[in-house]
Amino acid sequence: MNKTNFRTGIGYDLHRLEENRDLIIGGVKIPYEKGLLGHSDADVLVHAIIDALLGSLALPDIGTLFPDTDEKYKGANSIELLKKVFSMVKAKGYLIGNLDTNIIAQAPKMMPHIPDMKKTLSAVLELATEDISIKAKTKEHLDAVGEKRAIEAQAIVTVYKV
Ligand code: ZN
Repeated sequence: MNKTNFRTGIGYDLHRLEENRDLIIGGVKIPYEKGLLGHSDADVLVHAIIDALLGSLALPDIGTLFPDTDEKYKGANSIELLKKVFSMVKAKGYLIGNLDTNIIAQAPKMMPHIPDMKKTLSAVLELATEDISIKAKTKEHLDAVGEKRAIEAQAIVTVYKV
């Protein structure tokens, strides 16, 4: 194997849960009494995926590309940001081999929404749903995530040279 054919990237994100915000995770609006706080729509899973993709090609991270001081990104749909990042990946000559992720949330239940998240990500990333893994974990009621004050996400991605 030519080692330049494959590259791997890791991404992590966390947002606080606050009242009067929509809860959007993986591009899917989830009914809940709170939502994630952020300059954009605060889609924690999509942000972790964006950083994993950028990391795989050693590009500047999400905060550098889409600064939260820029009014342009206020309330931004993170799926649109993901589309931009995926086009950067393709411009470098790469496609995605597989994507593995974790959503860490004490509440609400993620499981019922995972098929819709996979469908949404599959369409944007030109990746079959069988090559997308989204796992839901809790924090066993420990720390800020366990106390339902925040939600975390992790992502790891493999890209390959076309
Ligand atoms: Zn974020």
